[in-house]
Formats: sequence, structure tokens, C-alpha cells
Amino acid sequence: MEKKGKTIGMETQSREFDVIVVGTGPGGATTARELSRKNRKVLLLEWGGKSPIRGNLVSYALQAGIPGKGLLFTSELLGMVRGIATGGGSVFYYGTAFDPPAEMFKRYGVDISREIEEIRDELPIAPLADHLVGPMSERIMESAQALGYSWRKLPKFVYQERCRPDCPRCNYGCPYGAKWSARMYVDEAVSNGAEIRNHSKVTKVLVSGGKAVGVEYVRHGVRRRVHGEKVVLSAGGVGTPAILRASGFPGVGYDYFFDPLIAVMGVVDDIRGGKEFPMSAGVHMEDEGYLMTDMTIPAMLHVTLNAWALRFDSLHTHANTLQIMIKAKDSLGGRITDSGGVRKKLAETDKKKLAKGYERAREILARAGARSIHKSRPIAAHPGGTVKIGEFLDADLKTGLDNLYVCDCSVIPEAWGLPPTFSLIALGKRLARRLTEVHR
Ligand SMILES: Cc1cc2nc3c(=O)[nH]c(=O)nc-3n(C[C@H](O)[C@H](O)[C@H](O)COP(=O)(O)OP(=O)(O)OC[C@H]3O[C@@H](n4cnc5c(N)ncnc54)[C@H](O)[C@@H]3O)c2cc1C
Repeated sequence: MEKKGKTIGMETQSREFDVIVVGTGPGGATTARELSRKNRKVLLLEWGGKSPIRGNLVSYALQAGIPGKGLLFTSELLGMVRGIATGGGSVFYYGTAFDPPAEMFKRYGVDISREIEEIRDELPIAPLADHLVGPMSERIMESAQALGYSWRKLPKFVYQERCRPDCPRCNYGCPYGAKWSARMYVDEAVSNGAEIRNHSKVTKVLVSGGKAVGVEYVRHGVRRRVHGEKVVLSAGGVGTPAILRASGFPGVGYDYFFDPLIAVMGVVDDIRGGKEFPMSAGVHMEDEGYLMTDMTIPAMLHVTLNAWALRFDSLHTHANTLQIMIKAKDSLGGRITDSGGVRKKLAETDKKKLAKGYERAREILARAGARSIHKSRPIAAHPGGTVKIGEFLDADLKTGLDNLYVCDCSVIPEAWGLPPTFSLIALGKRLARRLTEVHR
């Protein structure tokens, strides 16, 4: 479809798209992929680049480690990593496919049961085969089970035939294509005819006649405008509220969650490892409000965590360190700043959850033969709940403005504490279905 656009002191695109999707994490990539399969003319705008996933420290640092971009800090100096790259956080995530809390979504009028089944058919979701579970994960699992925990292998989004044992790269992005990432859906959308513009940071939504009609974005230093019939914001739990604020929604970006975590570490003498799939197994301590899993990380991240916790005595122990992650369901609070900064303090109840998990992890590690047990400083994991369904969005994920939708971690309506990707893929599929039902 071709249409004339106005130029207002900047470059304006005259082409019009059916749907403009902002951000290419699991929420945006899935929406774009599904729409492109139904022959919708889709434009993806992505702040980050699309450099190859090399699975090394340098590519990770460039896409997830630049302060103010991939790496944010809360007011209490909790680090928060997000991927600013095609595929968003899923390039660097741990691939855990946690069942969506379908009943919770249903209470808000969002039924994703059909989409959940579809995803199970389409994506490789299964616990890792035994030969892909590393010795550190195994040792922790044995110890936890002996102490009575129902610690089990977790389902993963992994093409296991491409996955390699003794490999430390998951955390830096899998170069073998074993770990499903949203970049795969972006590639599929592009092969179906969608267009992607990388290095395009969206600043606001364009509104005319009470409707969203496009977006303004900055690419290579030039401010540009592009028009589309519908706009889907999928810039993540921090990016999306910042765009909405600049577009006349002052109330978004408050009372959110960030699923804080700590790493509990202990040194063993009889394993030399440190190269394995993180989060292979664990247990959801639902009543106590946290998740416990193994979490083996690459050597440089081990050094960083320990240095940040002032444990300089542990900088060299990477190959012998068993590590358990405690990820808590934090209470809602805080605010996203207008420029996309994160302000939030851990509540006392959140600290207690992490402390309880620490106590349990200590016991598990001690039984596994570990000594010198200590913990990292807390880290903020998944920011979300910044543009909640039921508050700013209806059950179709539509904002108060016609033609403007949101689909990413922002939309989650309650405190969370779970790996969100499976849920976001389901929401993306459902949104695309809704848009194509209405938009004929
Ligand atoms: C180390 C780590 C491990 C994890 N492990 C798991 C796991 O095992 N399982 C799980 O389910 N989840 C995991 N997660 C979380 C998961 O990766 C995220 O929750 C998920 O990627 C969020 O998806 P999203 O669609 O909300 O947006 P994101 O993935 O955050 O993507 C948002 C996209 O929007 C882009 N963007 C931002 N602002 C703008 C803008 N203004 N203009 C244009 N583009 C913009 C970003 O560059 C990014 O590509 C992990 C995260 C991390 C960091």
C-alpha cells in the first residue's frame, strides 16, 4: 500500500505499513512473525543491531553490557541486563520454557490456552537430555533431592541436536542455533516479506484524529517518521513505558516488578567445570515466592559477580564453583524515568524472600560438598508490569488510543517471579490473531 506522508523538518516515509512493530524481543518478534504469515505488511523497528551471535564476551558486552543501554542500574545499584539487539533479551537468556500462568491471564480476560498448545507443537520444549546436563547442575540436583526438594530438570527452548555439552556460550548467545531465540522469528518474518530497520530508536507514537498513525524514530542521528495503520510497542518492560510517556501517557511505568535474583556460590574440590547450560534444573518454591535453579555462568561473569560483591578471594574459583540462583517474586513498586531509567528499591518482604532462599541454597551447597559459600549482590532480572493489562490495556492489549497496542513484558498485570518468554510468545500469537481478525 502506498500513501503520501507529510514532512515536518525531518525525513518522513511516504510508504505505509499495515503494522509497525517496535522492538524484536519475544513479544514483538512473535507478533511480527504471525502477522507476516498472514501477509500483513510489517515493519520492525529495532534499536539494536543484528551483528552475528558469536557467543563470546565481546559480542555480549556490545549488545547487553553498555551502561545506559543494555545495562541499567536501579537506585540501589542493582544491575539489570537487557539485550539491545535483534531478538532482544532472548539472545542472551537461559532458554527456560516456564509454563505460562494461564489462569492468571484468564482472570483479565486473556485466554492463551490455544496459543500455549500451538507453541508446544511448534517449538522444541523439553528438559535437556542427560548428556547435556552438566556435572555442576547434576551435583546440585542430587543434593537438593536428597534434602527432599522436588528439584527437577526444567523444560528448555532448545534444539537439542545442535546443543553441545561442555559449552559455556549460552549466556553470551548460542552461535550454534541450539537455543531458540526471538531472532529466529524475526528472520522468518523477514523471509515472509517483513522489513526490519536496525539501529532505529523509537521516541514516540504519532497521533492524529485520536488514533495512532505511526512512530517517530532516530536512525543514524536523523529523526524520521514512518506511518502505519497499527502500531505495536514491544520495546520491553523499560522501553515501552518510556515511549508511551513521550506519547502522552504519563501514568505508565509505575509499580512494576523486576524479579530480583541472587547467585549463591560455593567451591568444590572434585569438579572442574564451569561450562554448562545454566538453569538446567530447579524448583519453584511457590509458597515462599521464589525460584531456585542451578546457574553456571561464564568465567568473566563469575569474576564480575564476585568483584561486585567484594569477594576478591573468589575471583579465581570459577571452574570449581557450584552456583544456585534464587529469583524472587518481588512486590510491585518503583518507577521508570522519562528517559528510560529504572528507580526501585527492594522492599523488606523481597529481601526476606531472597534471604530465605539463600538459607536453603546454603544447605543444598553444603550437602553437595561446597565450602566458602557466599552470595552475590542482588541483580534485577526481568522488568515488567509497567503497562498492565486491566489498567492501561484492554484484554486485546490495546491502549486507550485506537490502533495502538503493547505486547511485551510490560503488559503482565501482577507481580511475577517467573521466566516470562513462553508467556510472551503466547501473547504475541494471540495479539496477531486479534489484529488479523479485526484488520481485514
Ligand atoms: C541472563 C538472562 C537470562 C534469562 N533467562 C530466561 C529464561 O531462561 N527464560 C525466560 O523465559 N526468560 C529469561 N530471561 C528473560 C527474557 O529474556 C526477557 O524477559 C524477554 O526477552 C522479554 O521479552 P520482551 O518481548 O518483553 O522484550 P525484550 O526481549 O526486552 O526486547 C525488547 C526489544 O526492544 C528493543 N527496544 C527497546 N527500546 C526500543 C526503542 N525505543 N526503539 C526500538 N527498539 C527498542 C530492544 O533493543 C529489544 O530488542 C532472561 C533474561 C536474561 C537477561
